[in-house]
Amino acid sequence: MKIDTDTLTATPEPASRPCRGCYGSGRTLTALPCPTGGRGPKGGKDGCRTCHGTGRHWDPAVTEVCARCGGESPDRHEDETLYDHVRFSEFRHLVAWRVVDATDSRFTELGLCIGDRGAIMTVGDYGDHRRLTDDELVAAVRDRDDDTQWVFLVRKADMRLCDAVVVVRRRNGYSVRPVWDDEAVVAAA
Ligand SMILES: [Zn+2]
Ligand SMILES: [Zn+2]
Repeated sequence: MKIDTDTLTATPEPASRPCRGCYGSGRTLTALPCPTGGRGPKGGKDGCRTCHGTGRHWDPAVTEVCARCGGESPDRHEDETLYDHVRFSEFRHLVAWRVVDATDSRFTELGLCIGDRGAIMTVGDYGDHRRLTDDELVAAVRDRDDDTQWVFLVRKADMRLCDAVVVVRRRNGYSVRPVWDDEAVVAAA
């Protein structure tokens, strides 16, 4: 994903992802007919212990050119989409980070209460996060060597990257949520 750092808009990279048919190898396994037509030794349906009646067998040594990409540039056959994964290290420096308590009344007024928007992640920890300061909690989330999907960070309507990522403290854990166009949250971060 290309992020314009002035407008914070995202542009998917064309032809940047491996073929979804062959995972970039250019070849797929060839379907081989079951020698007994899927039937077991006594002729019963679902009897073949290898294919369980599907009638197709697979041999790692027998492959064919991938029908999806035709074997052409299979490692760069698909356009990037919002459902492709992104590591935290690729966006953590582009957004503001903030902790908000879910019981904060202003937070509820802003419509950010649980369930309104997709969370990047949700953690249940029986309240262990309360031993951390806000800065420590932000660091614990922000610095994870983790990934998510672009769809949680980029608004489809205008492809804008979120302005801030908010860690919402709840009694039994916390969730991590993107925020757009919320000047109060962004300014306070
Ligand atoms: Zn079989
Ligand atoms: Zn392919």
